[in-house]
Amino acid sequence: MGWLARMFGKQKDSTRNRPAPVFFTNTLSGSKELFISQRPGIVTMYTCGPTVYGQQHIGNLRPGMLADTIARTLTAVGYRVQRVINITDVGHLVGDGDGGEDKMAVGARQEKVTPETIATRYMKMFIDNLDDLHIDTNDIRFPRATEYIKEQIALAKTLEEKGFAYYLPDGLYFDTQKFPNYGNLGGLAHASLEAGARVEVARGKRHPTDFVLWRTAKLNDLQQWDSPWGRGNPGWHIECSAMIRSLLGQEIDIHTGGEDLAQIHHNNEIAQSEAANGRTFVHYWMHNAFLTMGGEKISKSLGNVVYLSDIVAKGFNPLALRYFFLQAHYRTPLSFSWDALAGAASALERLQKIAGDIEEESKRKSAPSEVRIQFLAAIRDDLATPQALSILWDSLKSEDYTPEEKWGLLEDAEAHLGLPLTNLAAVPVLKDTDIPKEVRDSLTLREAARTSKDFAAADRLRSEIENSGYRVDDGPNGPVLTKRTL
Ligand code: AMP
Ligand code: ZN
Repeated sequence: MGWLARMFGKQKDSTRNRPAPVFFTNTLSGSKELFISQRPGIVTMYTCGPTVYGQQHIGNLRPGMLADTIARTLTAVGYRVQRVINITDVGHLVGDGDGGEDKMAVGARQEKVTPETIATRYMKMFIDNLDDLHIDTNDIRFPRATEYIKEQIALAKTLEEKGFAYYLPDGLYFDTQKFPNYGNLGGLAHASLEAGARVEVARGKRHPTDFVLWRTAKLNDLQQWDSPWGRGNPGWHIECSAMIRSLLGQEIDIHTGGEDLAQIHHNNEIAQSEAANGRTFVHYWMHNAFLTMGGEKISKSLGNVVYLSDIVAKGFNPLALRYFFLQAHYRTPLSFSWDALAGAASALERLQKIAGDIEEESKRKSAPSEVRIQFLAAIRDDLATPQALSILWDSLKSEDYTPEEKWGLLEDAEAHLGLPLTNLAAVPVLKDTDIPKEVRDSLTLREAARTSKDFAAADRLRSEIENSGYRVDDGPNGPVLTKRTL
């Protein structure tokens, strides 16, 4: 047995009953570390979720993919993973600082409904998107910030009682100078933190990096609650600290999120939690790099957004996006283009076709092999999904392995990558060709009619589409075509 086999070969180390080794890059140390859970066999993992004031773009789904790949990898080596993704449904200001406009209020005003209605609508859409990407949402809890106001107030109160907070007319602030390790995450230069927060100095904060724990209500605030500091609403960092403490405990194993959150949001979470609880907050911090388009981060404020519904509307299987994400390492920026997505879609289809052939040859029997060990080693080495995919492709095409060895590899790949490979009959695979050409043509003509305000023609084309068994909905980024269910 080679060194790879000794390190990664067995699912569990039977002599000591320990899971096989898994390595993750920890943003806290900046290096790759062996993962060791705090409690044997159990992992607690928290992911910062979306602010549900609008539909989530495909960049917002990348943190979900990272957390899913972590969970699949740890589950496969025998851990039980307890997972939480929070839903920010309380006014969270535009930008990282404490100033700006309340996103929930902006969303509610635009759609002329209450913040709660907006939140429920977009939370559902977000969870549906995760399901479509084969992220098992039944295993994840999705707490809403407004359900944890009491806990957020209690945490802020503890910080005030322990001398970590001070009061100004516009709210209760965390005093970062009282927390000596402030800003440790991500090797931050304090100068950049201070520069980012400089705009706030004038309001009487003691230090530019101090941040609000509880904000005094403004006259027209749609969301406000009673608190020891009067009517108001929570600052945007405290919900994560409070929900983690309530749902997963004071000390958790893994905390994930997009890389933009490390600098301010996650340093503030650490400061609040460690100051209040008096112990280490998170052992492994993991951050995904951005999804970009045209050289820039996909972001609502830049206007270069693509939604999963756009991908489906163009006739792609949502799992093409999953495959596309897996082609890059989570810590590498990934550039989205429709051509690249089409490439991923056709690679997935080819893979599924090969899997179908191997299914017949192997009669669904699997055998262990060196190549399976290599595949698992890649995944367990900081989730090296691009390498895992290339090992998969090379071995499936190779004559060096038996159909049974290949079938075993496909089972491992399905469990870790979340791509349907061994049970294709159960999963309808949508292909471009699944949507008849005349339906796609009618959709294009309807869009043209709508643009030129020819609503009679647009309505007629909609009826034609519906008569062909499809439904068209107008999403914020264009029409969405789905199969009609009677
Ligand atoms: P937000 O609703 O902006 O707070 O974002 C929700 C999550 O998506 C956070 O973890 C962000 O870091 C992440 N995120 C936002 N935009 C992108 C992007 N273009 N690529 C990858 N992750 C992103
Ligand atoms: Zn958070």
